[in-house]
Amino acid sequence: MPIRKLSPLLINQIAAGEVIERPASVVKELVDNALDAEASMIEVAVEEGGTRLVRVRDDGKGVPAGEMGLALEQHATSKVAEPGDLERVGTLGFRGEALASIASVSRLRMVSRVRGEAEGVAIAREGVGGGGVEPVGCGFGTVVEVRDLFFNVPARRKFLRSPGTEMGHISDTVQRLAMTHAGVEFRLSHNGRVSLDLPSGQGRVERAVAILGKDLAEGLIPFEEEAGGGAKVWGLAGEPSLARATGKAQHLTVNGRPVKDRNLQHAMREAYRGLIPPDKFPLVVVMVELDPSEVDVNVHPAKSEVRFRNAGMVHGLVLNGLRRALLAKDLTPKAGFGRGANGIGTPVLTPMASAESESASGAFVDYFKRMDPTQKGLVFEEVKREMAEVDPVGLADAAELGTPAMPAPVAGVERVLQVHNSYVVTQDDQGILIVDQHALHERVMFERLRARIIDQGQALESQRLLVPTVVDVDPGREVAAEQLAWLVGRLGIELEPFGKGKLAVQAFPSLLFDRGVEPGAFVGELLDKGQAGAFDDGKGGSGADASVVEAALSEVLDMMSCKAAVKAGDKLSDGELAELLKQRESIERSSNCPHGRPTTLRLSLKDLERQFGRS
Ligand code: ADP
Ligand code: MG
Repeated sequence: MPIRKLSPLLINQIAAGEVIERPASVVKELVDNALDAEASMIEVAVEEGGTRLVRVRDDGKGVPAGEMGLALEQHATSKVAEPGDLERVGTLGFRGEALASIASVSRLRMVSRVRGEAEGVAIAREGVGGGGVEPVGCGFGTVVEVRDLFFNVPARRKFLRSPGTEMGHISDTVQRLAMTHAGVEFRLSHNGRVSLDLPSGQGRVERAVAILGKDLAEGLIPFEEEAGGGAKVWGLAGEPSLARATGKAQHLTVNGRPVKDRNLQHAMREAYRGLIPPDKFPLVVVMVELDPSEVDVNVHPAKSEVRFRNAGMVHGLVLNGLRRALLAKDLTPKAGFGRGANGIGTPVLTPMASAESESASGAFVDYFKRMDPTQKGLVFEEVKREMAEVDPVGLADAAELGTPAMPAPVAGVERVLQVHNSYVVTQDDQGILIVDQHALHERVMFERLRARIIDQGQALESQRLLVPTVVDVDPGREVAAEQLAWLVGRLGIELEPFGKGKLAVQAFPSLLFDRGVEPGAFVGELLDKGQAGAFDDGKGGSGADASVVEAALSEVLDMMSCKAAVKAGDKLSDGELAELLKQRESIERSSNCPHGRPTTLRLSLKDLERQFGRS
């Protein structure tokens, strides 16, 4: 085939290949246009998952009759005019190709009337064909109708899913856009049935709650954070118990544009580190606002990714905002009761804030099920064996680590009961607290170790080994040992070369030693993790770099605190119990262990009253 110029139809269809993946992409582009036209009402009507029809109506400023034909041309836009404009795009659209692309793969009709005009104009396209502009009677604003998507591109049509699935994507798209434009009225219907109806003039929290579900409102913590240069983030941090199995409940926008961004997803994960299990996704709304010159939006044809001039700053902004929100609230999950037929059903553990929400309570039950059985404290063999030990626990060690030891017992928590040598039951002003002693102690150890190593910059107390333990090191472990030297030193571990392919552990943290942790095995595990890149780059820096270091430390401290903490089955003295509960109140993030499981459940007086039929 000789070289030849592509026809406009082919050019548009090639562009459509990138921009229009499925009906939801059509919806996104059309709603983007309505928002750019400053609409205060946007109505999306869909038939058969958008494969038969997508119609978007708005009351925005409309297209002047003389520009109607151009609107459907490729590379025609009213949003940017010269190269400099690309540096500071303030609209959602700017590429001038959405309508042309959509028209090339569907039957499109657009009707528009500018305010002040006596009548509107209509234009229709069908692949290449279609008439000119005709006058038509209509209201102010614009209606775009897209029928039979991909009617002329069988390859694409084949990849369309069921109407239900396609509608799911459309619904998600509309919700994301509606979330960030709280003041705009949105309506979405499928085959004539309204599935989303959001009034105009809503506030940001109100809009988010309307979309996420009223039953979640209690579990959303608002936050706001600013950095220099007008950089701001506003959002809602969902309580850990609302975490989901997928990232769908993460609403991230940059200057009103829903985006995917790995850097900021990392910031969200970091903020919830230790509050939710690693395989869960927090429920969050994060809206970043930056000067347009600080973001490059011209990165991706579908405009779903952006590039930040200062990614580290934005990362820090989001991380700090979320972190502060989470630290400011008592995150103890509630233990509730299932609803039996007579209202006195079997007690089940369910976060009450979301009792209505299947996925959230399901997630909770899931991670309870997945708990290491020895940590659940339900393995009676283990319990019996450990009960034989009379004075097993060095809680005092933990007290020595950081802040000065606290007196025990403590006023207000004197009513304490240890159950099955695994759980601690006590009360607070709201009800009954049930504490998983291992999980809580693990968190206590973690925070203390962190305070000592990071905040105070001190090495852990260590003990010289009478007989050094020799560890085999392959070249990978050797490199890891060099790279982790800074960390190894802080932990109070001393390593020395011991002939080829071997290292000797000369000193080991007292804390682990006293708990019977084997030095060789621990160091081996540490080096293997380092080798696997679990804690890459220990050099510090700013923004994302600093959080890499923190992630590394968290990994190691996780490992140490798990090994050093009291276990299920350890009998604790009254003094130790009081000390543990006292620490629960004084440390941060005490609601969850470093792996994100809850340390404490609360049975509220209100629930008890209801269950006993007293109210
Ligand atoms: P872009 O949005 O990138 O400019 P589009 O192909 O989506 O490209 O739209 C082309 C032009 O048509 C827009 O620049 C805008 O001037 C006009 N337009 C499209 N939709 C609307 C609408 N709903 N209301 C007003 N003008 C619109
Ligand atoms: Mg557009």
